Amino acid sequence: MENKPKFLCSLPWEHLSIHPHGHSSPCCEVDWGSDIAFAKNKINGQYTPSVLNIDRDGPEAIMNSDAYKQIRKEMLAGDVPTPCLTCYRLEEAGGQSKRNREKIVEEDYLRSITQDDGTIEVDIQNLELRLGNYCNLKCRSCNAESSTSWIDDYYKLKDEIHMPSIFDKLKNSEDTSYEWVDKEEFYEEILKYTSKLHRLQISGGEPFLVDKHSHLLDLLIDNDIAKNVHISYITNANYNFDKVSQKFFDKLTKFKSVNMSISIDDVDKRNTYIRSLSNWNLTIKNLKRFINEYPSFHYSVTQTINVFNFLYVEELSQFLINEGLLSLTGKKPLYINDNYVFSPEYQSANVLPLDVRREKIDSIEGKLPVTFYNRLKSNFYNTDCNELGIDWIKTTNAVDRVRREKVTDIFPELYKIIANEYKI
Ligand code: SF4
Repeated sequence: MENKPKFLCSLPWEHLSIHPHGHSSPCCEVDWGSDIAFAKNKINGQYTPSVLNIDRDGPEAIMNSDAYKQIRKEMLAGDVPTPCLTCYRLEEAGGQSKRNREKIVEEDYLRSITQDDGTIEVDIQNLELRLGNYCNLKCRSCNAESSTSWIDDYYKLKDEIHMPSIFDKLKNSEDTSYEWVDKEEFYEEILKYTSKLHRLQISGGEPFLVDKHSHLLDLLIDNDIAKNVHISYITNANYNFDKVSQKFFDKLTKFKSVNMSISIDDVDKRNTYIRSLSNWNLTIKNLKRFINEYPSFHYSVTQTINVFNFLYVEELSQFLINEGLLSLTGKKPLYINDNYVFSPEYQSANVLPLDVRREKIDSIEGKLPVTFYNRLKSNFYNTDCNELGIDWIKTTNAVDRVRREKVTDIFPELYKIIANEYKI
């Protein structure tokens, strides 16, 4: 490590990422296995199991928690803090990490604003708010802690199938609060630390259903901060635009730039099955209205690739191209981004046999944007089958039962391939 530059990152100094249940981490890509992935304090030299919460403890206590101070001290000492091993490992393997995408900071500058014990004067320039778990959809790959619409199904199924959820644990913890998103005092408190804010990322749940956060937009506009802020949203676009989100969009025109990412996973009935309770026609109608009525904003569709949509992965791009919204050379109002389900593993496309994945990938070259296609190929062209088809079938059938849906009606070809492969 001697001749290597220090592993420095601006985020532990200037970024606050708040999760739906009120916990905070230095960024959204930390290694969650680390003991200090979330803001916590020590008692008698040992980290407590208790996690700080934005509602109870506030931004100052979080940014100067023992965990955050340790991360800053370790970076300045030339070490890689355990939460940042995600970035470190990716860089060692030759990949582009989140750290690489953040602004480069000079060690001398960081030293000048950091006390010996890691304490800083809190100055949040980059803020991520995941505005609670209130959501109108219950997507197959989501969970109760991120969507209120999942909670009933979670209780019906939690003793029957393995789900990627710790909702019970969170619900019964004194460290959990979903209420902060509805408190004007929270937004007023955050304003005290954000005079130099330049980036604000907002997601949920469904953020446009959290009406109170318009107070933050008003505060940033009234205090002349909004004009310096690049703001971005992740939304499902499944609401009455006139009643729910237009008032937000009008305020957003006061920001330096606006990025709107709309989550869509497939086309028509398949999308409705994966993104349960969504309305395909409404999604596309809203997408077109956004683009037509607010042309200065930047738009993208984010498609999350999982076992359900893998065999049809190019159809969403092709649909958007036919609608005149997307072009493979990026010259249309919309971009399409790829995202991947790897957890729970039984929903990853690696459930499919390798020859099926290879045949599919070979057949769609030229039908997806190049970077999307290349990432899809690097994720699934050479990876072993994870042998979790039986788990996928068991879980899918159980969720179908409580939702009165039938995977074989919507994905007959997929079901047949997996049933044959796993001899069901
Ligand atoms: S080094 Fe990576 S994981 Fe650590 S704070 Fe920076 S971006 Fe996040």
